[in-house]
Amino acid sequence: MIEGILVDHAAAEKMLKCTRQHRPLEAGGLVLGLRKGLYLHVTEITRPLPWDRQSSTRFQRSPKGHRIAALRRWRKSGGKMDWIGEWHSHPGFSLSPSSIDIRNWYDIVRQRKAEMIFPICDGRETTFYLQCWGDRGKVLLRQVEKDALGTFYLTPAAIKRQLRETGNEAYGLTVELP
Ligand SMILES: [Zn+2]
Repeated sequence: MIEGILVDHAAAEKMLKCTRQHRPLEAGGLVLGLRKGLYLHVTEITRPLPWDRQSSTRFQRSPKGHRIAALRRWRKSGGKMDWIGEWHSHPGFSLSPSSIDIRNWYDIVRQRKAEMIFPICDGRETTFYLQCWGDRGKVLLRQVEKDALGTFYLTPAAIKRQLRETGNEAYGLTVELP
């Protein structure tokens, strides 16, 4: 079970920028990073490629170029960097996933057999969803901390547990990445 994610500033910034550049069309790509025990660390995203299909209400990623980009980074990282999610934009509309999004996420996670994150960006902010594996549940991650490294998000369950463990005190600094 994944309890939280750390998102590097550069990756978050790239998603925002890319969403604005492609507006009014939807944009998207892969989310790449590291699996560190209970946490996912987002270090990279891929941008739309010419083979992708983009409309104002839909982004359909082609497997082609993104896979090459992912493989290249995987090799460069010595096999550590992993495909940990997919992002797309909702330029100018709700940050909630559509029914198509939810179905796609579930299918991806079922194939991958691991929990993955699915950011949606509207050009101003990004919402992070964690799609569980083994059931249809999806979890909206909450931002808990922002520092020089990046922004840290936790699942509501992890936040609750930490509050309990710390006697309802501030939980920000108790979080450590392995
Ligand atoms: Zn969508």
